[in-house]
Amino acid sequence: MKKPEIELLCDLVQRQSVTPEDAGCQSVLIERLEACGFDCETMVIGEVTNLWARGGVKSPVLCFAGHTDVVPPGDLSKWHSDPFVPTFKDGQIYGRGTADMKAGLASMIVAIEQFLAENEDHEGSLALLITSDEEGRAREGTLKVMASLTDRNEKIDWCVIGEPSSEKYLADLVRVGRRGSLSGMLTVNGIQGHVAYPQLADNPIRRFAPVLAELHETEWDRGNEYFPPTSFQVVDIQSGVGAPNVTPAELSARFNFRYSTEWNHESLKKRVHEMFDAHDIEYDLKWHLSGEPFLTNPGELIDAVVQSVTEHTGKAPELSTGGGTSDGRFISPAGVDVVELGPVNASIHKINEHVKVTDVVQLTSMYRRIIELLL
Ligand SMILES: [Zn+2]
Repeated sequence: MKKPEIELLCDLVQRQSVTPEDAGCQSVLIERLEACGFDCETMVIGEVTNLWARGGVKSPVLCFAGHTDVVPPGDLSKWHSDPFVPTFKDGQIYGRGTADMKAGLASMIVAIEQFLAENEDHEGSLALLITSDEEGRAREGTLKVMASLTDRNEKIDWCVIGEPSSEKYLADLVRVGRRGSLSGMLTVNGIQGHVAYPQLADNPIRRFAPVLAELHETEWDRGNEYFPPTSFQVVDIQSGVGAPNVTPAELSARFNFRYSTEWNHESLKKRVHEMFDAHDIEYDLKWHLSGEPFLTNPGELIDAVVQSVTEHTGKAPELSTGGGTSDGRFISPAGVDVVELGPVNASIHKINEHVKVTDVVQLTSMYRRIIELLL
């Protein structure tokens, strides 16, 4: 007899919800939540299906959040089993989305069911915010659902995101914030010319080189108690006309900052423009902000998560702000305390993605204990 969270995980994995498809995953969740007395509201925005579900009308509101979409499986011949057929091997379940993040979804649903079965008269409310647009552009998912909730004054107090936060073993690491992510798309203009007559041309590569060096050498900050130092990385540079005797007229480059709470996107942009403007360079710089940094301060949510994890693993989790962005960036600005606690992330987005069966069962128990401690 399989545990209910394992059965639910298998059901979700065999639904081919490659982003932004939901492939019926949310209908499965809705059926379970409605049986627990939740009000379920499907919000279809563009091609994205989102779910806001709430059980109870009281405050405070403890919300679990996550996504039903998965990244494409990649080269099928490299998988040792069908990525959309949950496959048990050596104590693991293999399949696309097992770790990122259908295990988290299955655990939160079963934790809620088990909690409600024994605590009919609990304090506050439970809620779920689920999107099918986390792995894609993320513009029609959590961002829009949060905007609707804010519009109608529906407040979330605490949010647990089931993203795979763990590194070596389950719950060794819990995320309590994320760095900001800001990208720059640069064009440097010059004058094309003969390589033998540089005085008649203006080489944009030569113009950009000293600015690039300065961008790399700058110590943006030293980080702070919760954040590592801000990092600058170039991801792409293109120039040249393809001939050995011609210097180009244009250079384009793309770079990214992962930044700490010592900055916001405006102060960081201003500093970068000052740097460019101090050099003799004709440029155009466009920006894309993926998310400002956020940090959940110590308080009831972090206390409950740390206590639950410690009771299960015998060790307090590391509280970290590392890693990439997540939908927490859209939830936190509404004044919500956000933590991310989920399975081991070693295989996410890879071929042969998997999650340990016993971790899924233990994660359910951790979530359930967090609910008990807060409500
Ligand atoms: Zn994910």
